[in-house]
Amino acid sequence: MADRGFDLKARIETLEANDLKRALSPVDRVAERGYFAEPSGSELPVLEAAEALVFASNNYLGLTDDQRVQDAARQAAATVGTGAGASRLVTGDTMVHRDLERALAEVKGTDRALAFSSGYAANVGTITALEPDVVFSDELNHASIIDGCRLADAETVVYDHCDAASLRSNLEERADRATQAGREPADESWLIVTDSVFSMDGTVAPLRAICDAAEEHGAWVMVDEAHATGLYANGGGVVQAEGLEERVQIQMGTLSKALASQGGYVAGSDELIECLINDARAFVFSTGLAPPAAAAASEALHVARHSDAREKLWANVTHLRDGLESMGFEVWGDSQILPVVVGDRMDAMTLAEGICERDVVAPAIRPPTVPEGTSRLRVAPMATHDRDDVIDCLEAFRAAGEETGLL
Ligand code: PMP
Repeated sequence: MADRGFDLKARIETLEANDLKRALSPVDRVAERGYFAEPSGSELPVLEAAEALVFASNNYLGLTDDQRVQDAARQAAATVGTGAGASRLVTGDTMVHRDLERALAEVKGTDRALAFSSGYAANVGTITALEPDVVFSDELNHASIIDGCRLADAETVVYDHCDAASLRSNLEERADRATQAGREPADESWLIVTDSVFSMDGTVAPLRAICDAAEEHGAWVMVDEAHATGLYANGGGVVQAEGLEERVQIQMGTLSKALASQGGYVAGSDELIECLINDARAFVFSTGLAPPAAAAASEALHVARHSDAREKLWANVTHLRDGLESMGFEVWGDSQILPVVVGDRMDAMTLAEGICERDVVAPAIRPPTVPEGTSRLRVAPMATHDRDDVIDCLEAFRAAGEETGLL
């Protein structure tokens, strides 16, 4: 019988041969200052150091370890239950979800918000529900946006990263084509979609210029605030920081980074949320967000807005960026994410190993995640790092940089 199965062994061997195979390594956290320790009894490769400083987490404010956030999750588990038990449209809707959505809408400056079971589901669910004819998408947008465009079967026009001029010329070109084909603007729905803070480059999208271009062509704008929620402005994100709440029709984000939980959300008009409740299959046919996750995110949003955690984070970001740059490292971006770009993939691995030997963790990011020749270490400070932690991190980079000849 001919084999119509899948040669998974060959796939894995190809990954191994190209040095691209990824592996999971368990992390046993110590709930303080972003440290983690070597898991006991594990056969899997883990850090050699018993304890290391983590500069590689999206838990930017350190709120996964915050007592108030943990208490909120515990209380929701005890009173509402550990799981929603059903889709929100069946019996999975609770006051914990409503409280979270009210708080998100308030900080976002929108009519309403809707929680999804992940940020990935929020992007895929929203783009497919909108059924756009054409999507204009930044070339470095997150995979969940790309997958949403594919699943929506939209014509996708990719513009240069963070380049409003490239977006504008693509809009003009596409508008000319529509005119030549005799189509009126009302015949097609256009969506411009961009991350606000880009996870691997640390860049911030030029949202104001994007909104200007969108309005010239009557397109809608959707912004993925996964890496900005809880951090920018009063916690609302870059849209709020730029005062663009009225010009961005769809604000999306995740609860899994600064908000220290799990899940995603979309914030926007009453009509948008009503449509998503009805048409977003990733919402309709998926179990509601677990109540402890919703409660933790609500509390984390409150703490993010009403504590000094954000200021602490930004102080660490400035200290670390200045230190790395003054040593001679090339640091990209202009956000809390500090990509230390070294170029060659082996150099990035060696540098990551070098700092790891000095008990500092920041992973090497290599192709295919980033383009060839731009391998980097993605350094992400947290609000819970203290000044000495940042100094230790800088020292590790200096020593490893000198040892490897990169400095
Ligand atoms: N958008 C962006 C920009 C992200 O970085 C991520 C998470 N890596 C997501 C969406 C997906 O969010 P989640 O992890 O909640 O599925």
